[in-house]
Amino acid sequence: MTQSLTALLAQKTFSTADIARLLSLTGPADVELLRSRAHELVLKHCGSHVFFRGLIEFSNICVSDCNYCGIRKSNEAVDRYMLSKDDILESARFCAEVGYGSAVLQSGERIDEAFVAFIEDIVRSIKKETVSSTLPGGLGITLCVGEQTEDVYRRFYNAGAHRYLLRIETTSPTLFAKIHPPQQSLANRMDCLDRLRRVGFQVGTGVMIGLPEQTIEDLANDIQFFKRTSIDMIGMGPYIVHHQTPMAHYDRDIAARKDAVFLLALKMIAVTRIVCKDVNIAATTALQAMQYDGREQGLCFGANIVMPQTTPVDVRNNYLLYEGKPCLDENASQCKSCLERRIRSVGREIGTNEWGDSQHFAARS
Ligand code: SAH
Repeated sequence: MTQSLTALLAQKTFSTADIARLLSLTGPADVELLRSRAHELVLKHCGSHVFFRGLIEFSNICVSDCNYCGIRKSNEAVDRYMLSKDDILESARFCAEVGYGSAVLQSGERIDEAFVAFIEDIVRSIKKETVSSTLPGGLGITLCVGEQTEDVYRRFYNAGAHRYLLRIETTSPTLFAKIHPPQQSLANRMDCLDRLRRVGFQVGTGVMIGLPEQTIEDLANDIQFFKRTSIDMIGMGPYIVHHQTPMAHYDRDIAARKDAVFLLALKMIAVTRIVCKDVNIAATTALQAMQYDGREQGLCFGANIVMPQTTPVDVRNNYLLYEGKPCLDENASQCKSCLERRIRSVGREIGTNEWGDSQHFAARS
């Protein structure tokens, strides 16, 4: 006889088969049991606060050619931009003024010295300019600027960034190779995560959910990877087709599976919470691209972080990793009040003027 779901959910450790079973649940009553266990655990390990990271997508210039991504190097239809230091500082000051506590600086990938030095300078300046009595350490800064050397990661850390996001995208070697050009390797991504950890960053990673030919076992292995490598922060979202990419021909297949992929993304959040417990998990914008209340649902399934848009509206349209990205025309203040309403609507509180660091990081360091 198979073990009851309630007993499985109460376990402390989980085999890959256990995780695959949880990810395969489809009956509404079972999914609700999963959701409520994840909700219970987020409250227990992270509290009821939801933390904001103002998202600043400061450049779409990219030397990588990821097959899924709308801003890949080969997409010539994209107008490339790089925000000025002043524009970035203005967005950062906005984050600090409205109490977000942290910002994420995200961009396409570049490894040239001018880019690295620009980021170092920006991080230093943001830190200097955002110190106040409400935010004594200045804005918490998360970087999301791709694969770099250990030396570069150290420069970013010394400048004052203390969290870094680099998604592994998938831990399946065959799937990774299918969705990336040959120059990119899963081994290097893994090395980068090790470098980040050695440098002292709170390390974030994540995967895309619903990739063509991705199996439940692949996703179960991804969660085991988060656990095994002691990841501090996780951002995951559904894969969404962008038509100016080599993966555009999957659009019908993906459209036919849309509802199942959305549910799978929610279950990934819940199961990651249940397995990894005290990590920060983001309810990502890609969830909201699929359903208008996708991020709130993510919060109900165990997430505790949201990333409101603070990229200037005039360039936001040029940072389209996938189609159907929400909030393209709302200014940062509109995004803020809309999100606050949404978070309160699901009974959570907002953690203002706090970095909202990963409890997992605190425990491991
Ligand atoms: N250049 C940075 C930022 C990349 S964009 C870096 O390398 O980290 C951030 C994430 O968006 C990617 O890691 C990927 O997981 C996600 N993404 C890209 N294209 C996507 C798509 N078509 N659908 C869903 N997510 C996508």
